[in-house]
Amino acid sequence: MTRARRDYYEVLGVPRTAAGEDLKKAYRRRALEVHPDRNPGDPHAEERFKELTEAYTVLGDPARRARYDAGGFDAVSGAPGFDPSIFEGIFGGQGFSSLDDLFEQFFGGGAHAARGAGPRRGDDLRYGLEIPLEEAAAGTEVKLRLPRAESCPKCEGSGAAPGGLVTCATCHGRGSVVARVGFVQFAQGCPTCGGRGRAVRKRCGECGGDGRISTERTVRVRIPAGVDDKTRVRVAGEGDGGYLGGPPGDLFVDISVRPHATFSRDGADIHATLTVGFADLVLGGSFEVPTLHGPELVEIAPRTAPGTPLVLRGRGVPRLGRSGRGDHIVHLTARPPQAMEPRERELWQELRELESARRARAAESGEPADRNLFDRVKDFLGGER
Ligand SMILES: [Zn+2]
Ligand SMILES: [Zn+2]
Repeated sequence: MTRARRDYYEVLGVPRTAAGEDLKKAYRRRALEVHPDRNPGDPHAEERFKELTEAYTVLGDPARRARYDAGGFDAVSGAPGFDPSIFEGIFGGQGFSSLDDLFEQFFGGGAHAARGAGPRRGDDLRYGLEIPLEEAAAGTEVKLRLPRAESCPKCEGSGAAPGGLVTCATCHGRGSVVARVGFVQFAQGCPTCGGRGRAVRKRCGECGGDGRISTERTVRVRIPAGVDDKTRVRVAGEGDGGYLGGPPGDLFVDISVRPHATFSRDGADIHATLTVGFADLVLGGSFEVPTLHGPELVEIAPRTAPGTPLVLRGRGVPRLGRSGRGDHIVHLTARPPQAMEPRERELWQELRELESARRARAAESGEPADRNLFDRVKDFLGGER
């Protein structure tokens, strides 16, 4: 997402303390100003309208608003970007012909009523969680403190004080009204009662008539060993509580794995670098390297070339949902001596002389001076030196 995101309150032009009713009014007023139908030829109108509606979709819902207030954009959208799919149902493919249709759907309870007037499943929640590579590899359990919306226990989600429910005068209790577009008639959720068939005459004192309350809850989430960046863990039933006795939604934890200081990960494999001295490459030896599973020994064969990968089988990351682990791959590099004492210098000098003498003898006798594995493979394949 390239555009800088504006604070939702700023988009709606209301203070952070604004009441629900003020948010709704502000949205209506701003929507009339920026709606693309009212701004023909303005290429940014649609984007501004979407931004506005996104702001209202979040702030207009008490539970989402609480999450936004606490954690900003990430808390309501799932990391990293906002999920535009919630707009598909509102704007996409339904062919709104006018602003009135839009408001009918958006404010008239149409969106709720369309899903049925009775019990309904609660909304899904998303949570962005960053963990270090070690925990991603070993698996972990985290405790998340999450705001979530539930049916008001006092009115059981009806929003009405005891005896405060009456039959809706608009739909006479049916929950739907007949709408007409041209010659086509269709039933639509009642805009007055939101499809419930009943209207609230006296509001519940606990939830103020919303039928929903905002609570906080600690959820334990088990992160399985081997999760990778962008893995999504679903925790069934830990989303928002259901409406009118419906089942709760699910919690989705979107995992991002923090980059490691020395290991890089490629699927189930871990890559690391081991820097040794020139003499180590020439003479070989055994070296301790860190892995995700603790220190391990790698063997360097005598006369190993820099860049040679050394593979520790099965010392990488567990394969998620399968058995076994990836490999830990050590890439060898050599560092030149940082300083030399006179005696070291003498020895390197002497080594070079010995090496030159050996090459000269080999050239006289017509033998290749240095035959390593690479040369032998070339000979085998019939290549030229
Ligand atoms: Zn209530
Ligand atoms: Zn009604």
